[in-house]
Amino acid sequence: MSDCPKIVKCIFFNNQMTNPPATSDTMKMEYCQGNFVDCARYLVCEKLGGTLVPSDLFPDMVDRAIAQIAAVGK
Ligand code: SF4
Repeated sequence: MSDCPKIVKCIFFNNQMTNPPATSDTMKMEYCQGNFVDCARYLVCEKLGGTLVPSDLFPDMVDRAIAQIAAVGK
């Protein structure tokens, strides 16, 4: 896998989120520099657009991302 295309501006990768989990560095390797297509933030951004990505949505919150996307009906 390669780096996520959103890595330059992503608030998670750039440490701009409130209360980041202790596993942030691990998640950056797993998602941002690996399997980014499974990232919750990436999913919402791709389906709904960057403006609708919640400011407190972390990469491993995929269930929440799927629920948000389903609620919008896409
Ligand atoms: S994988 Fe997710 S958290 Fe990481 S840079 Fe991409 S959108 Fe941001």
